[in-house]
Amino acid sequence: MSRPVNNSDGWNSLAAIRSKFDADADGLLNYDEFRALCVELFGVDEVKGHEPMMREIFNLFDTNADGALDEQELCRCHEWIRATVNPVNVLIVVDMQNDFIDGTLATRNCGYGQDAVDVVKPINQLLKQGRWDKVIYTLDWHPEDHISFFENLAMRELHSDSKVTKKTAKVFDTVVFSQPHVTQKLWPKHCVKDTWGAELYKNLLIVPSSVQIRKGQHPDIEEYTIFGNINSTGGNKSEITKILSEIGATHLYVCGLIYEVCIKETSLSGLQLGYRLAVVDDCSGCACPADAEIAKKTIIENGGLLASSECVLSLVNKGKRSLVMAYHAAKNMS
Ligand SMILES: [Zn+2]
Repeated sequence: MSRPVNNSDGWNSLAAIRSKFDADADGLLNYDEFRALCVELFGVDEVKGHEPMMREIFNLFDTNADGALDEQELCRCHEWIRATVNPVNVLIVVDMQNDFIDGTLATRNCGYGQDAVDVVKPINQLLKQGRWDKVIYTLDWHPEDHISFFENLAMRELHSDSKVTKKTAKVFDTVVFSQPHVTQKLWPKHCVKDTWGAELYKNLLIVPSSVQIRKGQHPDIEEYTIFGNINSTGGNKSEITKILSEIGATHLYVCGLIYEVCIKETSLSGLQLGYRLAVVDDCSGCACPADAEIAKKTIIENGGLLASSECVLSLVNKGKRSLVMAYHAAKNMS
C-alpha cells in the first residue's frame, strides 16, 4: 500500500472532490475519474492489486447503472469517502485468558505445536504502538454449570439426533442437546468466572480507558462471538455494539485467541454488522493450524482483511487505507 497524498480535509468537501477529479467537467464522475480518485485515496499499489473490486465499488454507487456518478450517487459515495478518511479504530483483543494459555485449554496441549503465549508479545506491541480510539478486551466467562463443559454432560438430556451418546462422548466431541435444542462442542471446563483460569494473562498489557466485556455467562448459551445474537436484519443490541456506536467506530481490528473459534466468530459478526474489519494475523493464535486456515478463508470470503501487525500499524498510524475494508463498507451501506 503506497501512501495517499491528500490529507482528510480535502476529502471532507464534495465540491473540492468534484473540482479535482471531474476531469471532463461534466458534473459527473465516470469510472476513470472514480479510479483516479481511488488512486489518490488508497494509493496506486492498492488500486492495482484490486482492480475488479474497485469496479464493483463504482457499480455499487452507480445505482442507475449509467456509467457515471451523478449528484445523488456522489453524495452516497462521499459518505463512504468520509468514513474512509476519518476512521475510528477499535482493537478487539479476544480471550487472552489463563486457561487458553496455561490452563485447561492451553493450545500447547492440543498436539499441533501451537503455543498461545507466543502472541502475547506481538499483541502488547500492537497495544503500545497503535493509536487506538478504543481497546476492548473480551473474556470467556462461564458459570460452573455451563453447557459447553464436558464435565457437565450429565446435567442435560441429549436429543435423539445426537450421533454421540453420553456413554461414548469424549472431550472435543460435538453433541446435540434436547433442552435447549442446540449443537454443542464439548470443551474441558474452562474460564469459570472469578477463577484464575478466567483471568487475563498476567503479562498482557491492559491499556488505560479500555473496556472488558464478558461472554458465555448464561448456563445454556455458548457465545463464541462477543456480539451475541445478531438478528436476520443484522441488528444487534449487545454491550459491544452500544460502545461501538457511542464512539462512531468504523474500523475493527481483531486479535487474540483462538483463531478458529472466537476470533473467527467475532470477526464474522463484526463483518455481518457492516464494520470494516481486519484480523491481525501475527497477533492471533490457534489450536489447530489446518482449522485456522479454514477460518481465515471464511473471514476473507465474508469481506474481512487478514493483515500483519506491521500493515495494521500503517493503516492505524500512518493514514494508509485498505480497499478490501472499504469495499466491504460500500457493500453494507444502507
Ligand atoms: Zn468458553
